Amino acid sequence: MSDFLEKLFGNQSFLQFTLANDSVVGKPSLLIGNNIQVELWDRGVLSVYPQGNSSVHSILLSVAVHGNETAPIEIIDQLVSDIFAGKIIPTHRLLIVIANPEAIKSNSREVDENMNRLFSSELSTAPDESDERQRSRKLMAYSQAFFGEEADQKIHYDLHTAIRDSYYKQFAVSPNPVGSTVAERQYALLGQWGIEAIVSTGEKSATYSAFTTNYCGATSFTLELGKVKAFGENDLGDFASVTTGLQEAITGSENLSGDEKLAQRFRVAGEVLKQTEDFRLCFPSNIANFTEFEIGEVLATDKDYQYVVSNSGERILFPNENVAIGQRALVIIRPL
Ligand SMILES: [Zn+2]
Repeated sequence: MSDFLEKLFGNQSFLQFTLANDSVVGKPSLLIGNNIQVELWDRGVLSVYPQGNSSVHSILLSVAVHGNETAPIEIIDQLVSDIFAGKIIPTHRLLIVIANPEAIKSNSREVDENMNRLFSSELSTAPDESDERQRSRKLMAYSQAFFGEEADQKIHYDLHTAIRDSYYKQFAVSPNPVGSTVAERQYALLGQWGIEAIVSTGEKSATYSAFTTNYCGATSFTLELGKVKAFGENDLGDFASVTTGLQEAITGSENLSGDEKLAQRFRVAGEVLKQTEDFRLCFPSNIANFTEFEIGEVLATDKDYQYVVSNSGERILFPNENVAIGQRALVIIRPL
């Protein structure tokens, strides 16, 4: 363990410290090697600031918006240890966020509600609001402060793993406007990282990555990196090329080779909302993301409604009939 890590977190890692301490007093900060200032803004919110660099990017790395998606959490914890030990030397500004520590502690996706529906500037306040609401409010403020500083590029990678199998094992959801040149370059880089598919979403939503795109001027991605497993059961080898990609992004050594594998591109063609308790999906519950259906097939039924495939190439994403009434139960995508 590096001396710097010990100074800020005792004999714990960033993750261990975040889980063990439910609040942080003040904003403890420290100058670590290579003239890098680190500052703990809050529980699980770590700023890494290389001093004196001009033309920097601001890169937000977030994990554990869903508490049981452990692989990205392990990757980020190792990354922080490596930064403190001087093995990885960031040239860009970073904000590293462990979004939902309480959900991690309870080994669950969420404690009270799905945090990735709570990143909205219109989030209502209630006296008895959930921990997730209070936390997302803080994370939105930190993200705006972080991206409020001048930067050459503003990038957000929100790292997840998915509940179900996927035809494309690693994929990205992109809330960025079509035609953004920064986003186009990122798509090429993500292809190099081994991301096999990119889904562009048109509508505004209340995910963390949509928030930073729409309200912080960032180019943002939700990255789905494989399947959910418990701590210690992840084979981090499965994530090696993404980990390398992240390291290159923060050290400023990323390079497009020109012959990188291109990710398949899709766009959201529609969303099916659960309107009543009668809502049912019409395919097996263990079906893989990106499964394609034929014209005429019925994908979902509700009280007075059914969704029938009407275009060629329609595929499904994130099906879940157990969502609350009024929430999205299925996403329909088509090739871009
Ligand atoms: Zn997730």
